Amino acid sequence: KRNTKLNTKALVASILKSDTVALSRAITLIESNHPSHIKQANAIIKACLPYANQSIRIGVTGVPGVGKSTFIEAFGKYLTSKGKRVAVLAIDPSSSLSKGSILGDKTRMEALVKDEHAFIRPSSSGDSLGGVARKTRESIILCEAAGFDVIIIETVGVGQSETTVHSMVDFFLLLKLAGAGDELQGIKRGIMEMADAVVINKADGDTLKHAQLAKVEFNKALQLYPIKASRWKPKVMLCSALQNEGIDSVWKLISDYIAITSKNHYFEKKRQEQNKFWLIQTIETQLKSHFFNRPDIKKELEQQLELIKANETTPFAAADYLLNL
Ligand code: GDP
Repeated sequence: KRNTKLNTKALVASILKSDTVALSRAITLIESNHPSHIKQANAIIKACLPYANQSIRIGVTGVPGVGKSTFIEAFGKYLTSKGKRVAVLAIDPSSSLSKGSILGDKTRMEALVKDEHAFIRPSSSGDSLGGVARKTRESIILCEAAGFDVIIIETVGVGQSETTVHSMVDFFLLLKLAGAGDELQGIKRGIMEMADAVVINKADGDTLKHAQLAKVEFNKALQLYPIKASRWKPKVMLCSALQNEGIDSVWKLISDYIAITSKNHYFEKKRQEQNKFWLIQTIETQLKSHFFNRPDIKKELEQQLELIKANETTPFAAADYLLNL
């Protein structure tokens, strides 16, 4: 026990000194499901919390192949060249579906991996999306305590993962590709609505013309949405992650957003709302798992199912009965 305590203190001290080895070890503890690790992770998070909250959290999403890793690498290198420290965390929904990984392979972002002012951490695989999300959210706190100024949360544009990322970032960036005039097809309305910026990547070579047309289309589409609570009007931009073009403009845009929403206090308000969301979310998850893991509930649930089958009770009456246990 004494040893754990010392370890916790030492780890926290090292994290606060920006030691990325200690940061990695602490995130591994966060990712573990072992009770003693969870306990230690919670102690570390608590100790780091007073030093957190000082970064800009940016969500980056887009379909596989749109250029997320190329973009994040170029963007990350740009930021570190400006003296910023950048952490990249990934939420990979594929890990919970197939145990494989769309995001996690090691060859991605090679230049950024080598940058001493950057920290890259793929998500732990094999967990549910909710599990990965909670862990990512806690990892953000540790990255902030370690002095990272910009935290990028990356996810693939499939399923629920964008909504999850949206609920933990200040700025939500949607990466898109220009097709041949059918830009707006196949894009989920909800995602467009969440975006603070739509960045059309691969605006180079033969696809530049398409990208310029797509920009017009997206701009038109964005006009149709009601004005956001942030008062921010989402912007459409072009970039070529591969040729490093437009990257500085994206950062300029995000800086404008931060300035505007800090001034009208939306920035802080949104973070408080996100905290509330995660509080409620965590309670719901834990209540559910406590309930369904109770041996008496497991047993009675089976019996109630039999009664439902025999037409002797209804699902609603059975639920009432079980909840009253
Ligand atoms: P991800 O799956 O979204 O992470 O996409 P990647 O970053 O792995 O990029 C997919 C492919 O698109 C790679 O072959 C990249 O080299 C290429 N790519 C990425 N960005 C650009 C760009 O701006 N222009 C062009 N022409 N190709 C790009």
